[in-house]
Amino acid sequence: MGLIPEDVIAQVLDRSDITEVVSEYLPLKKAGRNFKACCPFHHEKTPSFVVNRDKQIFHCFGCGAGGNVVSFVMQHEHMDFPTALKVLAQKAGIEVPDASDERTQKTKSLKEALFQANDLAVNFFHDALVSGEKGAKAAQDYLKQRRVKLETVKALKLGFAQDQWEGLITHLRNKKVSLSLMEKSGLVVAKEKGEGFYDRFRDRIIFPIFDVRNRCIGFGARTMSKDVSAKYINSPETLVYTKGHHLYGLHLVKNAIVQKDVAVIVEGYMDFLMPYQEGFEPIVASLGTALTTEQIRLLRRYTKNVVMLFDSDAAGESAMMRSLDTLIEEDMNVKVAVLGDGQDPDSFVSKHGVVDFQKRIDEAQTLFDYKLRILTKKYDRTSIEGRARISAEMLETIAKVRNHILKEGYVRKLAQELSVSEQALVLEMEKTFKAPVAAEVPIKKKTSGPVRIVERNLLRLLLEEGVTISSIQEEVKISDFQDDQVRPIVEQIFDLSNEKEIVNASKLIQYFHDQETVSFLSELMASPQPVAEDKDVLRKDYIHRIKSDRQKLERRTLRDAIEAAEAKGDETKLNELKEKFNQLIKS
Ligand SMILES: [Zn+2]
Repeated sequence: MGLIPEDVIAQVLDRSDITEVVSEYLPLKKAGRNFKACCPFHHEKTPSFVVNRDKQIFHCFGCGAGGNVVSFVMQHEHMDFPTALKVLAQKAGIEVPDASDERTQKTKSLKEALFQANDLAVNFFHDALVSGEKGAKAAQDYLKQRRVKLETVKALKLGFAQDQWEGLITHLRNKKVSLSLMEKSGLVVAKEKGEGFYDRFRDRIIFPIFDVRNRCIGFGARTMSKDVSAKYINSPETLVYTKGHHLYGLHLVKNAIVQKDVAVIVEGYMDFLMPYQEGFEPIVASLGTALTTEQIRLLRRYTKNVVMLFDSDAAGESAMMRSLDTLIEEDMNVKVAVLGDGQDPDSFVSKHGVVDFQKRIDEAQTLFDYKLRILTKKYDRTSIEGRARISAEMLETIAKVRNHILKEGYVRKLAQELSVSEQALVLEMEKTFKAPVAAEVPIKKKTSGPVRIVERNLLRLLLEEGVTISSIQEEVKISDFQDDQVRPIVEQIFDLSNEKEIVNASKLIQYFHDQETVSFLSELMASPQPVAEDKDVLRKDYIHRIKSDRQKLERRTLRDAIEAAEAKGDETKLNELKEKFNQLIKS
């Protein structure tokens, strides 16, 4: 399937009328500014399916289906995006170039081009594995022996890179992907003397890595042979792939994580795969040694509760210890699960099943208990020196806990466990560690309440005709938005506006590939308009409220920090914070 240039997509959206297209499938009745019908995507007797001609979107208030004209055709006809777009292009008399040539590739943004090249590679590797041709039989056998089911292979888009030097190169070349793009994607490697390129991945099982928007950003590749020293090799960093910024599997399980309000973090591809295959969904893999701040912040969009489940070998333990501290610094609620007997999630689930696995997760220890247990193995708890070492390392973590009540509780518990006085521990902690002050911390999200409504209203206003986005952009920052659903959309609007693109609801939907966001947007646009008021007045009011909510939050956080500094008698810090506070009030 060819790659479709963005300007062609824009043309198709501009020239198709959603009410006309939908009318070909179902009878629409006019209702105010909208059109209504019984929803074609779920069974109903009273119509909750709405088409809005001004915004060129549809939304069903019954089942949440929504999107623009292309999404409608895709969903109704069960077509993929390029096919649906071609159908609409034909109706509108627009010619769609069949494959991307060098010229159109240049006009697309490089990122977009990299996603597309990766996507072609995903399908190439996946088709090879599923077909079982040219050596892929061995890969199939290998996966079978590791109990990986075909449906899992399909869900994770696993693939196989055949044992050849120019398999992928030839394929991508036939798809009109330039060599320079292939190189930028990291899929090929330049030969030493600058004489061409060869495939990076050969004779390996391929694990594509997707971002939360379902775009392939990179690859991991596992050897099946015991003789090869590098068990896994990975894509190098590219424009779309930064190591330690993503979590493997998150695109598939983010809804499950939201529903269960917890995420289990494991180390590797296979640790994710087996529990996931057996129906345990709130799980992601870190694919690195210790968790990074970026990974934690990514996960925090979905939950604040984490259960760490790393290998119980020395490397796993030390990675876990470092991760715990980062998690605490990011104010996450952390527990630690242990499988024991040198088992990893893959082998554990294969052996004991997913019910026992769930049990181990439910029995996860608190961070405190886990770390104390590890340290007790390391140092002699019966000697004074041993206790001093243990308390020093425990305090290192406790000092990072942001919640004062929790922190106090941990100190008390540690005092009891080690039979030392609380005062001694507090003194030690203050002497050695400067506990991070709350004011230096990024402001926490607020997921419900009036903030969301005003932010949504402003988002809606941004998509109104005749509203100048750039003028709003001057008055309000992305970080002023506290709503996690609204913020990325506003970000995209600002991006497009900066690139001088025309922004409207229907085009905007094109940039989001998760149904959740698309449905949120179509619902927002299809909902009844607020009473017609002067848009200028509305804009000023919304921005004022967003900014003042944000400032209130900052003030509250600062006040907490001032109290903490007062309690500690830290004069320097206190003055610094008070100065900050005064500035904030003035602004
Ligand atoms: Zn519906």
